[in-house]
Amino acid sequence: MRIAISGAGVAGAALAHWLHRTGHTPTLIEKAPKFRTGGYMIDFWGVGYQVAKRMGIESEVRAAGYQIQRLHSVGPRGEVKADVDVEVFRRMLGHDFTSVPRGDLAATIYDTVEGKVETIFGDSIAAVDDHGDGVRLTFDQAAPRDFDLLIGADGLHSNVRRLIFGPDREYEHYLGCKVAACVVDGYRPRDELIYVMYATPGRQLARCALRGDRTMFLFIFRAAHDDHGEPPKDQLRNEFGDVGWESREILATLDAVDDLYFDVVGQIRMDRWSRGRALLIGDAAGCISLLGGEGTGLAITEAYVLAGELARAGGDHRRAFDAYEKRMRPFIESKQSGAAKNIPFFATRTRFGLWFRILAMRTMNFGPMARLFASTVIDDFDLPDYQI
Ligand SMILES: Cc1cc2nc3c(=O)[nH]c(=O)nc-3n(C[C@H](O)[C@H](O)[C@H](O)COP(=O)(O)OP(=O)(O)OC[C@H]3O[C@@H](n4cnc5c(N)ncnc54)[C@H](O)[C@@H]3O)c2cc1C
Repeated sequence: MRIAISGAGVAGAALAHWLHRTGHTPTLIEKAPKFRTGGYMIDFWGVGYQVAKRMGIESEVRAAGYQIQRLHSVGPRGEVKADVDVEVFRRMLGHDFTSVPRGDLAATIYDTVEGKVETIFGDSIAAVDDHGDGVRLTFDQAAPRDFDLLIGADGLHSNVRRLIFGPDREYEHYLGCKVAACVVDGYRPRDELIYVMYATPGRQLARCALRGDRTMFLFIFRAAHDDHGEPPKDQLRNEFGDVGWESREILATLDAVDDLYFDVVGQIRMDRWSRGRALLIGDAAGCISLLGGEGTGLAITEAYVLAGELARAGGDHRRAFDAYEKRMRPFIESKQSGAAKNIPFFATRTRFGLWFRILAMRTMNFGPMARLFASTVIDDFDLPDYQI
């Protein structure tokens, strides 16, 4: 089948890989002018890591990634208040765990299909006509094209979801926080392979040293959902201006940043992920938010399961879409409810909460506590073997 995929992110690239491998002709449509590498750091593990192994890209993902050794939670003068040995968790996950910039994970997947799969950069779908026997897509730039199926893999603010299912507000559930991330050159101090976090009531600031003398910063803060708020950098300056630690130095680097990631922290909850010949995957369909720490792994798993169900259904997309949804929905919904419970960890509201958070982090170094924590993050999902 000719299958249009809107979005060449993690889900889109993974789906292109599996569809190409199973004999379909996917076309990726990406609104960015070129493939987006780098970006914020994600932890990659769980069932998605197992799918990456089946894709044959484990060593490439690890090479692009960072084997973070410790998590430090610091106080206002940089004093280490909790020092967590990440190795404890890595052992429990059988070492199937790495941290990697989001775009670099997507690029590693995309490398497997580059030159084999058509990719249209710098364009976006303007209208969809699902006429029963296929879909006719109209683009912002390119001439209209016909496809058999349309898959929306275009993220939290999905264009395909808007075109097929309706406005964002019907599906987006705001979790009460905003997030920003950026990468800068030459920042000091650096702590190699240590993820350093600083939290004050309702806010968290973190830095992570990257190769090439670069550093990634992450900001999370509680805020009302205002579509027309101040410009993002002003919001960050207001929220983190005088919170202590390295906040002033970090904010000073923002002037030179021209690709600041800034967004609301939210989830996408829908009753149904497909309509006619269109289906959503990844954040577009069931974003669990960064609070779940596993969105990329789920996106890759969804791509594999969708391609597997299409193969099993022998091209009957209705049967495949139903089987896909039946298999994935309980897993995604359980991940969403788990993620929503993590808000107090990411943006702890009170001083007492912050004290408790430090205490909880310290105890994670001890086997039984680490095992208890690990048991809450281990995936309860039976990954089918589609033999594809
Ligand atoms: C700060 C932060 C930290 C996170 N930490 C983790 C973590 O530790 N572990 C983890 O697994 N997950 C984490 N996540 C979640 C993870 O990044 C997402 O779940 C994952 O990237 C979803 O993949 P996706 O392909 O569905 O969407 P995306 O990766 O967002 O890709 C969507 C793609 O669609 C493109 N696009 C958008 N609009 C259009 C359009 N109109 N037309 C064509 N293309 C379009 C975009 O340019 C992009 O390339 C984090 C998220 C954030 C924000």
